[in-house]
Amino acid sequence: MSQDCIFCKIIDGEIPSARVYEDEDVYAFLDISQVTKGHTLVIPKKHTKNIYETDAHIAEKVFSRVPKIANAMKEAFQPAGINILNNNEEAAGQSVFHLHIHLIPRYGEEDGFV
Ligand code: 5GP
Ligand code: ZN
Repeated sequence: MSQDCIFCKIIDGEIPSARVYEDEDVYAFLDISQVTKGHTLVIPKKHTKNIYETDAHIAEKVFSRVPKIANAMKEAFQPAGINILNNNEEAAGQSVFHLHIHLIPRYGEEDGFV
């Protein structure tokens, strides 16, 4: 737990979140500002700033859950596709400094997200 980290507070239950998936090491929840319906963030429970500071075994745990979570989202939201991305450092668009993977369902041109 890193004090002042929003995502650590979410894992701790201090800040409410809409849970999509959880196990011993990984938590997934809906992004508060949905780019498209079902936009989900997958994070390690152990605080790590971003990919540069992430041990391989933590990265393996987080990334290995992505196919399962993406398939559960496919079932729930019936998107036409999905974007998976991970921002590292401010210059790359990282705004929360706890490693996270964005899963963004795509519904075709009408979702307005390019
Ligand atoms: P980044 O820009 O760091 O790649 O993504 C951070 C994401 O965290 C953003 O998409 C933002 O909407 C989301 N986010 C920030 N604060 C909260 C929060 O308190 N709850 C949830 N569910 N998502 C958050
Ligand atoms: Zn954290």
